Amino acid sequence: MKFENPIYVTQPSLPDLDLYKPYLEKIWKSKILTNNGPFHRELEEALAKELGVKYVSLFTNGTLALLTALQTLRITGEVITTPYTFVATANSLIWNNLTPVFVDIDPKTNNLDAEKIEAAITAKTTAIMPVHVYGNPCDVDKIQDIADTYSLKVIYDAAHAFGVNYKGQSLLNYGDLSILSFHATKVFNTMEGGAIISHDEKTKKRIDYLKNFGFKDEVTVIAAGINSKMNEMQSALGLLQLKHYKKYIEKRKLLAALYVKQLSKIEGINTLAIVEGVEDYNYSYFPIYVEASYGKSRDELYEFLKQHNVFGRRYFYPLISDFPLYSSFDSANRNNLKVASTITEKVICLPIYAELTPEEVIAICKIIENGQ
Ligand SMILES: *Cc1c(COP(=O)(O)O)cnc(C)c1O
Repeated sequence: MKFENPIYVTQPSLPDLDLYKPYLEKIWKSKILTNNGPFHRELEEALAKELGVKYVSLFTNGTLALLTALQTLRITGEVITTPYTFVATANSLIWNNLTPVFVDIDPKTNNLDAEKIEAAITAKTTAIMPVHVYGNPCDVDKIQDIADTYSLKVIYDAAHAFGVNYKGQSLLNYGDLSILSFHATKVFNTMEGGAIISHDEKTKKRIDYLKNFGFKDEVTVIAAGINSKMNEMQSALGLLQLKHYKKYIEKRKLLAALYVKQLSKIEGINTLAIVEGVEDYNYSYFPIYVEASYGKSRDELYEFLKQHNVFGRRYFYPLISDFPLYSSFDSANRNNLKVASTITEKVICLPIYAELTPEEVIAICKIIENGQ
């Protein structure tokens, strides 16, 4: 059976429009539209409390948060990172004149393989930029041990990890900084938006100067900052979303469990295991891995789903290291990235979002079963 209307990989959750209007009226009345306004300050505090982190600095998007995080810690030279992520991770390094050094991923979690980091460290290495892919935690303890041994900074691209708790605390408390994305496709959205999570007041201040042109006060500019401040309309939307996001995640959780149950019956389709020690997972993505025993190749299944109006996404394909811009780096050699090269050819992220129905999940699984 083919769906009448297209089912996309995700659909943003938005609360009732009437609930947003009072916020907008306040903004119109006050005429404070941006520049660390009242909703901006309120959302920073509310997020810090909700997520269980010390400091939140809001940004216009996750990419500018990544760029600014690297500037905050004055990162130079080479940065160890993963090829299995959204291209913004590596692009943020290039924009800072840094050299990405790609290290292979762990087949179980699809995250940077901590066991392979040390071999990639050189005299020029100053930082590690891992990604909590699909919100599943990296090997944060091992990564911190390596960082301590070699005096490296750790900046997590935590764009997928909103609300994830690990070993009794927010996953965002690990590393020197973590960045979040609140893009429309993410589990918590402000249409566009992002944040840097920091752990001490001095760093929080530096981040906040950098996102506002480097202004320390009216007449003092302390660094070549950028403009990446979140505006009041988006901050207000964030406050409203914060009241509702948990029920969206609850719905995703049920859908993910249903997918696992339905797909377990299909030969050659594997799903991702959530890392042990995760207390609150966010079910932001639902990757499947198409093995040879399925019968169709990944791309054949991807097209087959499309023919039935189901638009999954190959997150992440191609690998960043395979883009022409990056493929000339020594570390981009596929022999160095064997696991990532295999996973990227197998993965499809299936649709998951709060408004998706259990019946739709069952129908998607049926299509996959029929495709065999
Ligand atoms: C979405 C995403 C980003 C970029 O965030 P934007 O808010 O879209 O700029 C960076 N890294 C990863 C892993 C992402 O998924």
